[in-house]
Amino acid sequence: MSASIGKLTRALPAQSWTQDTDIIAPQLTEWRDKYQGHTPLMLTPRSTTEVSKAVKICAAHNIKIVPQGGNTGLVGGQTPMGEVLLSTRKLTKIRDVNTVNNAMIVEAGASLQSIHDAADKAGRKFPLFLASQGSCTIGGNLSTNAGGNHVLKYGTTKDLVFGVEAILPNGDIYNGLTSLRKDNTGYDLSRLFLGAEGTLGIITAASLKLYPKAGHIQRVIIGVETPAKAMELLDHCRSGDALSMFEVIPRIGLSAVVENIAGQRDPFSALHPWYVLIDWDVESESQGLTLAEKKLSTAFERELIRDAVIAQNETQAAQILSLRENMSAGQKFLGGSIKFDITVPLQTIPDFFKRADKKMQRLIPECRPVGFGHFGDGNIHYNIAQPLGMDKEIFLERWQEVSESVFDIVGEFGGSISAEHGIGIMKKSDLARRADPVKLSLMKSIKAALDPQNIMNPRVML
Ligand SMILES: Cc1cc2nc3c(=O)[nH]c(=O)nc-3n(C[C@H](O)[C@H](O)[C@H](O)COP(=O)(O)OP(=O)(O)OC[C@H]3O[C@@H](n4cnc5c(N)ncnc54)[C@H](O)[C@@H]3O)c2cc1C
Repeated sequence: MSASIGKLTRALPAQSWTQDTDIIAPQLTEWRDKYQGHTPLMLTPRSTTEVSKAVKICAAHNIKIVPQGGNTGLVGGQTPMGEVLLSTRKLTKIRDVNTVNNAMIVEAGASLQSIHDAADKAGRKFPLFLASQGSCTIGGNLSTNAGGNHVLKYGTTKDLVFGVEAILPNGDIYNGLTSLRKDNTGYDLSRLFLGAEGTLGIITAASLKLYPKAGHIQRVIIGVETPAKAMELLDHCRSGDALSMFEVIPRIGLSAVVENIAGQRDPFSALHPWYVLIDWDVESESQGLTLAEKKLSTAFERELIRDAVIAQNETQAAQILSLRENMSAGQKFLGGSIKFDITVPLQTIPDFFKRADKKMQRLIPECRPVGFGHFGDGNIHYNIAQPLGMDKEIFLERWQEVSESVFDIVGEFGGSISAEHGIGIMKKSDLARRADPVKLSLMKSIKAALDPQNIMNPRVML
C-alpha cells in the first residue's frame, strides 16, 4: 500500500495532497461522533483534470477511495477506514450563472451557502435549504440526494439539477454538464450519480436549476394537539403552490432546544404538545400577512390549532426557523439517542406514531420518542431518546433491536428506511435485508459495470 501511495503523491503536485495528521484529523470524525476513521493520505485536487489523474493512478494500483465534501453526512459514508480520502475542498468555483436559462454551473466542493449567495446575487434562488448549508457541499448534496425544508414545493436535490460532471472509477471524465431543458438522447447517465453516495464515481461539477426569488416568505409557528391535527392542518394550509415548508417539532424537542441552546426562546407563553412551522412563498409582505391571518383564523374555527405566532419581520422569521435548525443540537442534551430518518405515506403519519410509540414503550419502558421533521414530505426523524437515568451505553446497545421494530412498522406502512440521509455504513445491512431483491441485484450490476475493482467508496451502501 505505501509503495502505491508513493506513486500517487509523486505524480500529483504538492498542493493537491497532504499526510499532515493535524489537517486530516477533523475529516476523520463525523458530526454525531459515531464513526472514527483513519487514512494514509488526503487528496485535495484543484481541478477536474487533477481528480481524473489521481483516480487513474488509484485504478492502476487498486487503491480504494472515499470521496468527501463537507463531512456533514449522517450515515458514515464519508469516513475513510484505511482508504485514501479524496476531499473536494479545493473545487469551489462558481463556473457560470445564466439568468436567461435560470441555470448555474458550480464545482462540487462549493458549499451550499456559497451557491445560495451566488444565486441571490443574480436575483435568483437555489431552493435547497438544510441546517448544515454553511458546511455541506453541492457534491455531497447530489451524492446523498439531500432533502431539507422546501422539498414540499421544489423536490429533493435530484429535482434541482440538469446534469453532472463526474470522474468514473477508471479515471475517465463523464461530461453531463448540460443546461438543456429537453434532451432525449438515451439513458440519463447523470442520474446514476445522484444518491449514489460516491460509490459510482466522484462528482466534480454540476449544472443546477435556478428559480425566481419569492417576493416575500411568510413564516408562522403554530401549536397543535396531535400529529393528526398537524396533518389536517397541512391540507388546510395549502394555497395554490405557495406552501413551501411544513415542519413539525414535538414539545420534548422544543424544550431541548430552548432549555439548552443559547439565544433560543419559546415563542409561546403556554406549552403545546406539538409545533408546526410553515412558510408560504408569496408576492409581498401584505399578501403574506393576509394569507396567514385568513388560514389561521379558519384553522381556529375548525379547532385544528391551539395558538399561533405570525412572523412580523425577518428577525422573527429567522428566530422561528432556528428552533427547527437547532433540533439536532438540542437533542444531544437528552442523552443517548437511537435515530431514524424514515418516510411513510403522508396520511399514515398519525397512525405511524401511535404504532411506533406504543412499540417503543413496550421495548424500552420510559424511553422518550422525539419524532420531528419534514412532515409535509412524509419524512420523520423518528429518534428515541434514552429513559432518564438509564446508562447511555446500555441504552445504545439496543440500537439494532429498536431498528428492527421501527423498520418493520415502516415496511407495513409502505415506507422507506432512509428518507434523505442515505444508506452509508449505518443502514447497509438493513438495505441488504429489506430492499426488493430485484432492485438490489440491479444496483449490484450497475456497480460492477462501472467499478469492477470496487475502488469507489467500497464499504458503502452495497
Ligand atoms: C445539522 C445537520 C442538519 C442536516 N439536515 C439535513 C436535512 O435537512 N436534509 C438532508 O437531506 N440532510 C441533512 N443533513 C445531512 C447532510 O448535511 C447531507 O447529507 C449533505 O448532503 C451532505 O453533504 P456533504 O458535502 O457534507 O457530504 P459528505 O458528508 O462529505 O459526504 C456524504 C456522502 O456523499 C459522498 N460524496 C461527497 N461529495 C462527493 C462527491 N463530490 N462525489 C461523490 N460522492 C461524494 C461521500 O462519499 C458520502 O458518501 C444534515 C446534517 C447536519 C449535520
